[in-house]
Amino acid sequence: NQQIVLDNRPEGDAVASNFKLVTSETPALAENQVLVKHHYMSLDPYMRGRMNDSKSYAASQALGEVMIGGTVGEVVETRHPKFAVGDQVVGMGGWQQYSVVDAAQPGALRKVDTTHVPLSYYLGAVGMPGVTAWYGLVKIINPKAGETVVISAATGAVGSAFGALAKARGCRTVGIAGGPEKCKYAVDELGFDACIDYKLHKDMYSLAKALKEHCPDGIDGYFENVGGMILDAILLRMNAFGRIAVCGMIAGYNGAPLPLTNPALILVNRLKVEGFIVSEHMEVWPEALTELGSLVATGKLRPRETVAEGLAAAPEAFLGLLKGKNFGKQLVKL
Ligand code: NDP
Repeated sequence: NQQIVLDNRPEGDAVASNFKLVTSETPALAENQVLVKHHYMSLDPYMRGRMNDSKSYAASQALGEVMIGGTVGEVVETRHPKFAVGDQVVGMGGWQQYSVVDAAQPGALRKVDTTHVPLSYYLGAVGMPGVTAWYGLVKIINPKAGETVVISAATGAVGSAFGALAKARGCRTVGIAGGPEKCKYAVDELGFDACIDYKLHKDMYSLAKALKEHCPDGIDGYFENVGGMILDAILLRMNAFGRIAVCGMIAGYNGAPLPLTNPALILVNRLKVEGFIVSEHMEVWPEALTELGSLVATGKLRPRETVAEGLAAAPEAFLGLLKGKNFGKQLVKL
């Protein structure tokens, strides 16, 4: 079983030498355990926080241990009565080819149906990132039809699901993404009404001007994935009683400071600003996954994936994700 472990902690930017590829034997199964062969593993921005020793919303990852992460695959051996060989499953198998899972633990392993939804989507649009978009939109922004909502990292795993969910609620939906290709895709394929290329704007005033053009009635809801200059520009355009769902601040994950110029506008506009962690709201997952699954099955959500080949490609693909080299959900195919 090939595995990637965290070998040492990053200082500043994460680098490939923080990881190490190792090989180990798969142990014999105990009662209630199953052996899962991974087909895809998920790379997610939260993994960067786990590489640090300091306090983060995700617990720190121990050195020498397999990198934690979501996986989809199939059961190849089983000692649990509810799982059969050949079952397709989603779990937290980590950066390795196989995982031994205690299937009796609630939520450790979930069977999935691939009739209408491809297996890999359970790591993206119909998985954790999709539910993240759903929670921030439905539970925090809670938009009325006709309101304007904006999201940063609009073409990523979370962003693409957000676009379809907001559209389904009759919102004017505006994305912010890096580069003309991503912006075109957001409008042509994901159903965004407009998408702003933040890389064309070197300061918040310039970006705020573009926001004014594409959000003529102001912004009622903002889904924050990035932080920094983008958040400052958004604050200049928020309407009174607007809601900001703080999901991520990826611009700061490698340690860069994220100063805020306009915090007083939170008061002036009586904004609600609420952070959240999707894994703390398991009660919404069934409802969210049902809606996301039907958006995919009906072609209203057509997410894109960037797939790296083979376990050894995972570190570079992960570093690329933190720099926006991914286009849609970043996966590794095993
Ligand atoms: P994405 O697929 O969106 O990939 C990350 C994207 O972030 C990149 O493609 C890039 O897009 C953008 N990005 C990276 N660096 C910067 C930067 N310096 N400035 C602006 N944009 C940048 O990842 P996910 O959809 O998986 O995650 C999106 C966000 O959601 C992350 O912040 C993540 O931490 C957060 N998250 C939070 C959860 C929670 O429970 N709170 C759960 C899941 C995700 P571009 O090229 O457009 O800049």
